[in-house]
Amino acid sequence: MRRLLYLLTILVIVVGCSPKMGGNIENKNQEPAAKQKPIASSIDLTEVNNDRVWVQVDPGKFDADSVIFRLPRVVQGTYSVSDFGSFTDSLVAYNYDGEPLNVKKEGANTWIIPDASNFDKLGYYVNDTFDIENTDKKTPFSPSGTNIKEDNFVLNLHGFVGYFETLQDQEYRLDLTAPADFKRTAALPVVSTTYNSDSTEVTNTYAAERYFQITDNPMMYGKLDVAEFQVDDMQIVLSVYSPNEKHSASAIQKTIKSMMDAQKDYLGELKTTDRYDIYLYLAPRAKTAPTGFGALEHHTSTVVVMPEAMQAQRLNQSMTDVVSHEFFHIVTPLNVHSEDVHYFDYNAPSFSKHLWMYEGVTEYFASHFQVYEGLQSKQAFYNKINGKIESSLNMNDSMSFTKMSENVLEEPYASNYYNVYQKGALIGMCIDILMREESNGQRSMISLMTELSQKYGTEKPFTDDKLISEITEMTYPSVGDFLKTHVAGNTPINYSDFFSKVGLQRVKDSTKTSLFIKDRTPFLKGNDETGRAEFRDMELNSSLKELGVQPGDIIKTVNGTDYTLQNIRQLIPQSMQWSPDTEIEMVVIRGEEEVTLSGKVGTPMVETLKLTEVEDASEEQVTLRKQWLGQ
Ligand SMILES: [Zn+2]
Repeated sequence: MRRLLYLLTILVIVVGCSPKMGGNIENKNQEPAAKQKPIASSIDLTEVNNDRVWVQVDPGKFDADSVIFRLPRVVQGTYSVSDFGSFTDSLVAYNYDGEPLNVKKEGANTWIIPDASNFDKLGYYVNDTFDIENTDKKTPFSPSGTNIKEDNFVLNLHGFVGYFETLQDQEYRLDLTAPADFKRTAALPVVSTTYNSDSTEVTNTYAAERYFQITDNPMMYGKLDVAEFQVDDMQIVLSVYSPNEKHSASAIQKTIKSMMDAQKDYLGELKTTDRYDIYLYLAPRAKTAPTGFGALEHHTSTVVVMPEAMQAQRLNQSMTDVVSHEFFHIVTPLNVHSEDVHYFDYNAPSFSKHLWMYEGVTEYFASHFQVYEGLQSKQAFYNKINGKIESSLNMNDSMSFTKMSENVLEEPYASNYYNVYQKGALIGMCIDILMREESNGQRSMISLMTELSQKYGTEKPFTDDKLISEITEMTYPSVGDFLKTHVAGNTPINYSDFFSKVGLQRVKDSTKTSLFIKDRTPFLKGNDETGRAEFRDMELNSSLKELGVQPGDIIKTVNGTDYTLQNIRQLIPQSMQWSPDTEIEMVVIRGEEEVTLSGKVGTPMVETLKLTEVEDASEEQVTLRKQWLGQ
């Protein structure tokens, strides 16, 4: 009796210092050992406190002096530091008597809990990342970020639920409590559903086999529009959050379905998944909205962030490009990956040498299947490939891809990461052409990846240092030489060598650009030292040249408006409103002096190279091209 009273007193104190610490205090003697009990975690979405939700994590009993609890510093697929611990606060850990323990915080993501054999559970607040992307605080790439808003929760669970260093393989239970009128999409299995007394709140209890599954299964709760449909034997669940209801799941569904039908066809026998979730968050035009557009892959789902203002047709094309890329990640890294990926360390990860494959080949597939399956014309595909060559040349073309990959968090490698989507895809293309040439059209990049996925699959990692020699053994000396010279080595690829095999060539052409942007490459780049934008060291368009702009010029004002890095983004959409006859005046800083440039916008053109078919290509070239492109 006394003990109970004691407990009650403590409970009041507990409630006092961390309002949401729920559940009873457990009896230490009845608590199973940590390795015998699923880790009980919970997130309560019904009581958002100052833009934060309360998260609780309750493991079994430890048999150690101290334990380490962390939130991920890095999550898989992002290749950058996220520091999810830095978005939490007020972490408090309790012993079995309900007394707070003296927890020591180390860095942004680590807490050391003393007296671990008496440690019962801990709780903390999580703040979201979406609405602070435009502040000075460093935030993760939006599709890996978190959102806490009254009508929408983006639950990238790696941003909410942490792990004990010694218990990453332990089973998890996750109780998610939310208002009953919320829609909820989640791929983790629900083991039970309970209601509060007046049925206004619902708690779903999800099960995860280990911490990895917590991080691999994002969820979305709130005001969602959900469409479900079949692609062959695969169930697709498309969840859309469009705050102003500009886009609907049913409108996007058709595009996704025809795209994924084509992807399934392209993948042939390659095993995929029974269910695939697409979470699409459409960002409104607001200072507090996320701006890292794109997507992040998971084994059976993807989180996509796009601007809501996009026109339907453009959104559909972007969804095709982006979601097809994420879905193709089922091939690699999900079915073909190294030990670095398989035993991923969320705190101090090591990186594989083979981003050319994980990201590059995936991006190549996402472009190639569209022409191969007849969703896109050959010329559209050539233009895309050509664009990738041009963008790749803006980065270091002599950097070893394997070296960049292994050191991707550090400079100068980190700033060349974007090349995995450019040159990485071109590497995939070159190997595809070689494979088809050597095998008389019998084998290809996708057939090689299928062979590798049969050899390895989700549960068996390959040895990072052996992959290139292994692929060489499985294929042809020419493929091995290519990988050694242009992927591990630092020799730039001569693309003409590959185009000539399939009767293609790059010819001089002039194309129209926007005043400040060519395809997706702006003529401007930020300069952190001056806090302003400057013209890149590249071939400028005819209009900029006629105005007298020189590479390296720093923009001060345009038509009287002062532009810094804070507002330079507004200049591009504004310039799109100008006609060729619009007169503009631009003041640039050139060295020590300010120069005023003025004139008509005109029609900005650039001299470029265009990838086209050779008219008198040989029969051999045309045959290989047809095998390559399927048309
Ligand atoms: Zn990717």
